Amino acid sequence: MPSQIAHLVFAVEAISRGLADLTVPVESPWLGLGAQGPDIFYHNRRRRPSALGYGALLHRRGYGAAVAAMAESARERAVRLESSLGAFVLAFATHAILDREFHPFINYRAGWGASAPRVATDPPFQLHPWLERALDVIILHRRWNQSPQTLDVLARLDCGPDLPAPIAHAYCRALHAVSPASRTDAHLALRLRNAYHDAIGFYGATNLVTLERYEEFLQSDEPVGRRARWISLLHPPVLPEALDLANDSHLPWYNPCDVENPSYESIEDLWERAMREAISVVCAIAGAWGDGVSASDAAAAITHAVGDSNLSDGRTIGRPCRKRNCSLLPLDRWLLAVMEQRRADPGIHWSR
Ligand SMILES: [Zn+2]
Repeated sequence: MPSQIAHLVFAVEAISRGLADLTVPVESPWLGLGAQGPDIFYHNRRRRPSALGYGALLHRRGYGAAVAAMAESARERAVRLESSLGAFVLAFATHAILDREFHPFINYRAGWGASAPRVATDPPFQLHPWLERALDVIILHRRWNQSPQTLDVLARLDCGPDLPAPIAHAYCRALHAVSPASRTDAHLALRLRNAYHDAIGFYGATNLVTLERYEEFLQSDEPVGRRARWISLLHPPVLPEALDLANDSHLPWYNPCDVENPSYESIEDLWERAMREAISVVCAIAGAWGDGVSASDAAAAITHAVGDSNLSDGRTIGRPCRKRNCSLLPLDRWLLAVMEQRRADPGIHWSR
């Protein structure tokens, strides 16, 4: 999936463009948190019980029904769309659209491998999160002309000292809609709170990382693989110039489930296609939120607009496909070379 900045920028753009006539609070941290979708269940995970299983479930199936349930719970309490909770639900919906468009590309170029190398030729860390963060840097620069050193991401998604009750309520309804087991999960509320605190901790630890802080990671005495894994979770202050991470040259790539139909799209192409869909999704949610729309009609319209297919490969049933096709960018070699170079000569300056 794309990472936190891409999801934030995408949600703000989709809601601003799609609902320009409304005053949805696009600066609200509720929007920023909603844009992260169920990725908040993946981060850090120090607290128990965890909500990891629900994060995986929502990425696998039923996302449209989950958004519809969130909207329904808000409408029942007469919450307007032009509110923090409305912004959360809209942004939550956009998460699925960006994931579905970008995931096949990121999987093809960076893999989906095990968290620890199994054979000597495996990269010493997962390339997937590193490419996601590199794409964050590119997207942030191109869309907002900013860098992760200047954008306070934490401020854009920190909703306070605890998970706000309306968001927790919406999440419970969403999970009840897609997971019968969640209805008897006595720890559901605690899992959600834990996920929020773990995720906020993660976003804080990786926020506004200065070059000095980045250097600390590069220079630490940790084993190289461990250092590289940490570094792969931080937004890189420089990108490998020789690697076309955004596929601006339109080289062929494949959905990892597919070996026959190449795509030539760049991330700009993927972004624009996802944006067109996200704009129609937020408009559909706005239409369904209006007075006079029955609960069942609203649920059907939102579920249909967002779709229930898998966020990784677009499948509608069962588990994700057995991925088999990929061509990894040599991101690990580049990062390890930078690390060695920095250790050998700490006086080298970053190129930008
Ligand atoms: Zn995701």
